[in-house]
Amino acid sequence: MAKKRKMPKFLMIVWGINIIGLVGLGFFLWDKIPTRSQPEQDSLQATDSPTLVSAPSLAPTTYLLPTVTPNPRGTHIVVTTPTAFEYVPSTLQAPPPMVIGYSVMGRPLEVYKFGHGASERLIVAGIHGGYEWNTIALADELIEELYVHPELVPADVTLYILRALNPDGEARAHDRTGRVNENGVDLNHNFPYHWKEEWDREGCWNYLATTGGVGPASEPETTALINFISLHNFDALISYHSAALGIFAGGMPPFAPSDDLAQSIANKSPYAYPPVNTGCDYSGNLTDWASSVEGIPSVDIELSNHTDTDFGANLRILSVFLSWVR
Ligand SMILES: [Zn+2]
Repeated sequence: MAKKRKMPKFLMIVWGINIIGLVGLGFFLWDKIPTRSQPEQDSLQATDSPTLVSAPSLAPTTYLLPTVTPNPRGTHIVVTTPTAFEYVPSTLQAPPPMVIGYSVMGRPLEVYKFGHGASERLIVAGIHGGYEWNTIALADELIEELYVHPELVPADVTLYILRALNPDGEARAHDRTGRVNENGVDLNHNFPYHWKEEWDREGCWNYLATTGGVGPASEPETTALINFISLHNFDALISYHSAALGIFAGGMPPFAPSDDLAQSIANKSPYAYPPVNTGCDYSGNLTDWASSVEGIPSVDIELSNHTDTDFGANLRILSVFLSWVR
């Protein structure tokens, strides 16, 4: 009978090391199973860049688009705000003219407005374009003066200045060829009152061939001015010409308020009234139409030549014109 042998001490130590080693190996192999290798992924996250890790879990397009493509609303505000701020001071210094229509060639017909009174008055320049370009130059001088001295307009008056009724003729040439509009029409023969396509040239301007248009108010410049006048209630009107014939009172037959306005202006100016009678039989005139059809006291004023604006004289005339009462 074998005596129960006690295991030697060194064997117990060896087996103990073996068991610990096997258990350790077991844990080691358990960790190597891919589906359970959570520590492995943790180490990957720790060593790789955060963008690579987060990329699969986030939609790159939705994340990047707001940064790359500007917000439309944000863009709108950024663009319009500085424009609006720049616009305000410039309008305070020089309000833009109102455009009442366009010429045959598409040039704007610009009207400048001064004052806020109930009595409306109108000055028209450049009806004969480049041939009478100095009337447009005068209008520009008056506009500039009125910007600097708005007090020239009485409190009860609103003044409108149409600086060039025939901008196409003004752009064409500062000579006889600049008189008519782009259709070859003399605009001061195109208004719908005693209108004629052709007229007896005896005593009339006859340097080049012109017509009164294919019909009364056939031209866009004419209809634009007619519409503008119809929308207002003008108490007086000046149409500037050149040169040298004096002041013409509108109306056919003579219109007493136009005659009174012409005389009042003549009293304070170098221009003659009654004017030089050349024997011309006028037809389709702006001031005749305005006086006899619209009942607006109206005068034609001829500057003294084809180059000067007679600014001083016409500044005095402006004062008479704005304070004149029918
Ligand atoms: Zn003229």
